[in-house]
Amino acid sequence: MRITCVGGGPAGLYFAVLAKLADPGHEVTVLERNPAGVTYGWGVVFWDDLLDDLFRHDPVSARRISDAAYRWDEYEVRAAGKPVTHLAGYGFSLGRHRLLSLLAERAVELGVDVRYSLSSSAEADISDADLVVACDGAGSRIRERDAAHFGAEVETGRNKYIWLGTPHVFRTFTFGFERTTAGWIWFHAYPFADGASTFIVECTPETWTGLGLDRLDGPAGADLLGRIFAGHLGGHPLVDQRAGGGWLNFRRVTNRRWDSGNVALMGDAAHTTHFAIGSGTKLAMQDAMALADAIAGGGDLAAALERYEHRRKAALAPLQKAARASSEWFERMPEYADLPAKRFSYALSNRRGEYPLWRYLLHVTTQRRVPRTALRWALSLRRWSRARRRPSLGGAFRGGAQHFGGPAHVGR
Ligand SMILES: Cc1cc2nc3c(=O)[nH]c(=O)nc-3n(C[C@H](O)[C@H](O)[C@H](O)COP(=O)(O)OP(=O)(O)OC[C@H]3O[C@@H](n4cnc5c(N)ncnc54)[C@H](O)[C@@H]3O)c2cc1C
Repeated sequence: MRITCVGGGPAGLYFAVLAKLADPGHEVTVLERNPAGVTYGWGVVFWDDLLDDLFRHDPVSARRISDAAYRWDEYEVRAAGKPVTHLAGYGFSLGRHRLLSLLAERAVELGVDVRYSLSSSAEADISDADLVVACDGAGSRIRERDAAHFGAEVETGRNKYIWLGTPHVFRTFTFGFERTTAGWIWFHAYPFADGASTFIVECTPETWTGLGLDRLDGPAGADLLGRIFAGHLGGHPLVDQRAGGGWLNFRRVTNRRWDSGNVALMGDAAHTTHFAIGSGTKLAMQDAMALADAIAGGGDLAAALERYEHRRKAALAPLQKAARASSEWFERMPEYADLPAKRFSYALSNRRGEYPLWRYLLHVTTQRRVPRTALRWALSLRRWSRARRRPSLGGAFRGGAQHFGGPAHVGR
């Protein structure tokens, strides 16, 4: 089969890898409009569930991703005027740039033709493919060409956010909230490499304009945010990759249909989930797994695309609900600001409103050092034993937080 993936993000590259593994006879091409090594964003987080899936589908790339990942082992909540509190949980993070280079390397190794710096030539290459995977991101041009058929709906979130980085290495995943004269502004930060952390800043549109962030270019905006959050940055700056300033409103994309003829939507082109639950990359890669499974063994392509869409829509539904609840909590964040520290951080962790009472009791208990350390070690053990069950994972762990454990994550 001739397969063309339009877009060399996590979805396109990982699907190319799986398609080649399923049948080395497939001719697989990835068309990426950016030059090699150029991408947006900083580090992304993920959890054990994705690693388990990756190891099941391709242990080679899974091992490389696991070895490159940074580990952190709890969430810290810093809200101005309140003592620091802690949330149980753990996770992994990895630079988006590093993830894409690992996936591209694996794809090329398997014989995928990965082409960068593509422009209009993409059209010609798509026309003779048996299967076109539209994995060209949230603003997918391929989807737009057949917009009425796919039935895309885009809902724009109220808050403003910007995806920044910093050379400051946070000890663990950290939420920080500061009160300014124009209202509350906060960050979601986590380390993803030696010498680099992701730093996503979010606020209401009133705070954004009140602080004058709407009138500042990239460096001036990052400088102002650096001053607001100076107490968290250990003397390091914030860095904005976009000279013009990268403030956005989150765009929630859904599609009524995911296929049209031989074209299938995948990843952000098919659906986006708010960054407050940190799952877009995971879902994009799980889409790739589902489509690869659906077309394995040949047969009718239309039926395979139906199976893919059906399976993924069912799997996505609860996460989309969680992402919506999570993003809405942040839109209402100022309403929670006067809660005492432990109740505030519990409201943050339970922003999907699903936790039973024992979670609150555990939360209160683990604000003290000894029970918190005990829980961390228990979770470490669990994480370690889960890692040992994966094929050929040797134990080459790195990163600042050397504990390996965790129950269901609380999300960002
Ligand atoms: C602030 C923020 C933080 C996030 N943090 C996390 C996180 O911690 N964990 C997580 O799992 N997810 C996170 N995400 C979500 C994640 O980045 C996306 O869901 C994920 O990248 C989707 O992968 P994709 O391959 O579908 O699309 P993309 O990663 O967007 O890749 C699409 C690719 O297509 C290329 N392209 C576009 N148009 C064309 C064209 N016409 N021709 C050729 N190529 C084209 C683009 O250059 C790009 O390389 C975050 C998102 C945001 C905004």
